[in-house]
Amino acid sequence: MTAAPKKRRNLQSDRKARLHQLYSSDDVIKLYDISRNTLTNWIADGLTVIDAEPRLFRGSDLNAFHGRRRKAAGKPLGQFLVSCFGCKRSHSLLEGDISISPGRTDRVFRVSRTCPDTGARANRFVCSEELGALQRLRETTPGSETPD
Ligand SMILES: [Zn+2]
Repeated sequence: MTAAPKKRRNLQSDRKARLHQLYSSDDVIKLYDISRNTLTNWIADGLTVIDAEPRLFRGSDLNAFHGRRRKAAGKPLGQFLVSCFGCKRSHSLLEGDISISPGRTDRVFRVSRTCPDTGARANRFVCSEELGALQRLRETTPGSETPD
């Protein structure tokens, strides 16, 4: 029997936060029992922050963020993660700004994302089918800008 090393995903419930409540950073850290670094990573991964001083998080945004992550974990979305040499983490191509450029052949595309922390470019090559799936997923993923 071999116990394959499980990748730590740090998935959280998407119902933990109260939808209409505002949370401070400390509240979020307490609610999910996470470190400050993890919270920073979540923000880098697309968790919406209300630009206030001190910064605040909407319960609905927290739940939506975790819902997206859980959904992503259940699908083979590893193909849409890029390893970043800047910060040594992975970034999702489903979040943030990406740019797409042609690869070596007309069936391969290079998708790059800028590291939110270091500004380094993280690249990944995908085939046209993967690029199509990526673009559909990005359309159905709510953006981080919510006007209100
Ligand atoms: Zn990075």
